[in-house]
Amino acid sequence: MKKILMIGTGGTIASQVTENGLAPELTSTQLLAHIPAISGICEVESLQLLNLDSTNIAPNHWLEMVGCIREHYEDYDGFVLTHGTDTMAYSAAALSYLIQKSPKPIVFTGAQKPIGFDVTDSKINLTDAFRTAASGLPGVSLVFNGKVILGTRAQKIRSKSFEAFSSINYPFLGVLRDGVLLRYLHESCEGGPVFYDRLDTKVGLLKLIPGTEQALLDYLLERCDALMIESFGVGGLPDYEGSDFCGSLCRWTERGKLVVLTTQVQNEGSDLGIYHVGHRLKGVPGVLEAFDMTTEAVTAKLMWILGQTKDPAEIQRLFYTPVAHDILWPAEC
Ligand code: ASP
Repeated sequence: MKKILMIGTGGTIASQVTENGLAPELTSTQLLAHIPAISGICEVESLQLLNLDSTNIAPNHWLEMVGCIREHYEDYDGFVLTHGTDTMAYSAAALSYLIQKSPKPIVFTGAQKPIGFDVTDSKINLTDAFRTAASGLPGVSLVFNGKVILGTRAQKIRSKSFEAFSSINYPFLGVLRDGVLLRYLHESCEGGPVFYDRLDTKVGLLKLIPGTEQALLDYLLERCDALMIESFGVGGLPDYEGSDFCGSLCRWTERGKLVVLTTQVQNEGSDLGIYHVGHRLKGVPGVLEAFDMTTEAVTAKLMWILGQTKDPAEIQRLFYTPVAHDILWPAEC
């Protein structure tokens, strides 16, 4: 029987009702007590790494998760991390870059309703996560509402109901039906695992709205090493009267800042070359585009890359090099 380590980090799944709203209080041992039948699927040991609402999960916590998995990697066949849903997609993306080509499963799960509620998705999600970890599915994934989603492709799409996550621009790795994992895709993990332990967290995001002031761009670029701009549609920058977004952006990139154009549209990604508002940015040194990567994945990828190198050519090479199937677009760079 496979031996799985459960790592508790908090979230709704572990929350209790308090005077001030739901707060994560249950330990991983208490969570496991709600699913006794798990002993028929795998042998489980558990530890409590954090107990946070995932709103409070920051990049230093991703490094703690990686450190914990690295420390126990040889002793277990797989790992299940229970985590709040709000930033689970960011954590799953982050671990996809920080632990690459893992032959052992690293499975995130959580719930929209606490495990102690009469109506809850906690028990099925947790059981499905163990089933997935025990199946040997390699790499980082997120299991939720019967779907197995690649760690670099998950996005939270619903704030309340059980179908909380979608797989963006990539098919599900599999589904869980009546307690059986049906695997659609098979990951390759040759040469792994490769662990990383450095991140550059000076990464920011500017979501454009009609009329965004250029001063906001300058404010963020002054403070960040890399800035993602969530633009409209396939991507571009505005030309409002009296503004010079492109000129400003080029001045910042000449000084070593990195800019990634992405889209606020959920599906199908960016393609800067299509309209003149984006075309003029193509090929500008220091300006990259996300193509079909999610904002969550780009956030984590930039932090990971800038933690390894500050060399512009190497940054560009790493950015467009697929990691855990995060980018499929044929990058013409
Ligand atoms: N606020 C919670 C969290 O992300 C929501 C959840 O877990 O569903 O920790």
